[in-house]
Amino acid sequence: MFTKVLIANRGEIACRVIKTCRRLGIRTVAVYSEADAGARHVRMADEAVLIGPPPARESYLRIEAILDAVRQTGAEAVHPGYGFLSENEDFASALAESGVTFIGPPVDAIRAMGSKSAAKQLMEKAQVPLVPGYHGDNQDPAFLQQQADAIGYPVLIKASAGGGGKGMRIVNDSSEFAAALSSCQREAKSSFGDDHVLVEKYLVRPRHIEIQVFADTQGNVVHLFERDCSVQRRHQKVLEEAPAPGMTLERRAQMGKAACDAARAVGYVGAGTVEFIASQDGTFYFMEMNTRLQVEHPVTEMITGQDLVEWQLRVAAGETLPLAQEQLSIRGHALEARIYAEDAAKGFLPSTGRLIHLDPPVETLNVRVDSGVEQGDEITPYYDPMIAKLIVWDEDRDRANARMLNALAHYRVAGVANNVEFLSRLVVCPAFTTADLDTGLIERERDFLFPHQEAVPNEVYALATLAELLREAQEAASGASVHEDPHSPWHRRDGWRLNSGFTRSVKLRAGDDERTIHVTYAPVGLYVLDLDGRSVEVRGLLSADGALRAELGGRRLSATVIVAEEKRHVFVDGRSYLLSAVDPLYLPGSGTGPDNRLTAPMPGRIVALLAEPGQVQEGTPLLIMEAMKMEHTIRAPSAGTLKAFRHGVGDQVSEGSELVDFEAEATAREVKLEPDAV
Ligand code: ADP
Repeated sequence: MFTKVLIANRGEIACRVIKTCRRLGIRTVAVYSEADAGARHVRMADEAVLIGPPPARESYLRIEAILDAVRQTGAEAVHPGYGFLSENEDFASALAESGVTFIGPPVDAIRAMGSKSAAKQLMEKAQVPLVPGYHGDNQDPAFLQQQADAIGYPVLIKASAGGGGKGMRIVNDSSEFAAALSSCQREAKSSFGDDHVLVEKYLVRPRHIEIQVFADTQGNVVHLFERDCSVQRRHQKVLEEAPAPGMTLERRAQMGKAACDAARAVGYVGAGTVEFIASQDGTFYFMEMNTRLQVEHPVTEMITGQDLVEWQLRVAAGETLPLAQEQLSIRGHALEARIYAEDAAKGFLPSTGRLIHLDPPVETLNVRVDSGVEQGDEITPYYDPMIAKLIVWDEDRDRANARMLNALAHYRVAGVANNVEFLSRLVVCPAFTTADLDTGLIERERDFLFPHQEAVPNEVYALATLAELLREAQEAASGASVHEDPHSPWHRRDGWRLNSGFTRSVKLRAGDDERTIHVTYAPVGLYVLDLDGRSVEVRGLLSADGALRAELGGRRLSATVIVAEEKRHVFVDGRSYLLSAVDPLYLPGSGTGPDNRLTAPMPGRIVALLAEPGQVQEGTPLLIMEAMKMEHTIRAPSAGTLKAFRHGVGDQVSEGSELVDFEAEATAREVKLEPDAV
């Protein structure tokens, strides 16, 4: 076995590989870009080498830089993880030439599977079933169109060098073929530097089922059963599971054999995945082979009880496969959800920023969290915005699904947009719970998965207010403890007054719904909140990490309230809400010109007009503008008259342009710029 391994990757997969190396007593070397200097994989490894600036092209994809790191540290083998250089034949050959072991398949196998077209030609010879289509070398548009016409529409045009769904175009009619072909070629050229395409039958409501294979240098090949990765968004996997629901023993044996045949056909060694597309009746066709460890490998580990990274290391060190086919079996059911920093409701738009709060569910034998980040880390625009993979296991699919829902309910992320709530809806969506799976599930279930924005419940406002009051009380208490007289009543923030109960108000906003909550301080840590004319007695305990144990009108609740500047993230009952505290004290800020006109503090776009022309109070929200991916509320700097808006919703405004005609009653004060989350 190796004594030192370099991991040519980052994020969760680098951490995952380091974990197994540690258990096997292998020293680890991390590589990192300037953007990752403080990253978790760097902190976990025994050694770490800086390989370049943040863009992957200048760091994680630079073969020479990785080779230097290998030489510098004397690593005997390199684990490429997935993505980056994991399927790059030049990288594998360069390592071989330097006498370093590549923990992956032989260069020839990578090359053979590198082109979807060439791989299909090879698989045809090995009698692995293929989707009807044309995957030859003739790229003449008229010829390709003839092929498509012969296959019958709909057809799919794919980039031979493709990956990540890039370049793929569905064509429903012969008349659309030419345009779709050139657009696929353009995207293929720009993404992969190669515009070679293939055309195949587009299956309706297909499932994506893949087989994990493993081979050693002695010619043994086994499969570790299947994974169902049908739940996808834009042809990218979101939820994966093993085994595949509804899989029969017979079909599994057929698919397993086809996958092992595919591996044998290219002289495969190590971990690989043979991806199939299956129609609803179970007929399956070879799609492609990924010559590396897959993101979703943990579900296979959970149902087989094996550590696939350990298998990879053993095979790369020349050992025989740890188990033969007859020794492998499936136990229970596993699900994996990819937790992404992305806004599901906005077309899965990636989100970047600091993870100001990151509290994953507790790991147990049933719940596993593979993560590359910790609270305080940053999701940068340079790499994949995956925060973690959440994997659960139980005796059967229903129980595993219940565990997933529960684990998601405990996954608390603040600081970046994230898909935790979306995933929670996905796993309770009837199509998913009844395993009515196909690659179009998310699109088909849109109405269920993307509900119209619901109003924030009163209870959430109450919890945020309570947290606010408790936080103030704690700050006052810690202020008092450093003071000469810690018992002085003047440090108390419980509204204590010599004579009567004290009242005040807290202002919170969710979207454009602004609420004023009147608070009356009652004795013994009790507060009476007036919310929409109803009063409720509340009390609670707040810990430093934001965990709130609350009693609202006799009802007990556990929640988390995270404070980030003016933002209040409230997590309760498996849901999360974003509120903003509206500061009643308007501090001077930028935004008003000397003549008291309200001007745009930065270039942006008007997203909402909030007030009616006429008399307004100081602090009345006038409009919201979006700039630098944030929303900013522009408020009345003082009491006065709003005469007119200068722009409508959707208008772009440049920095300094006048936003409203406003006449102040008294002396002008300046506008407060309040950023909100978009
Ligand atoms: P990539 O390598 O770009 O990810 P794949 O060939 O692996 O592309 O296909 C990605 C996804 O596209 C599949 O999981 C499936 O959802 C869909 N897909 C691929 N081929 C077909 C097909 N012939 N019919 C219908 N859907 C397909």
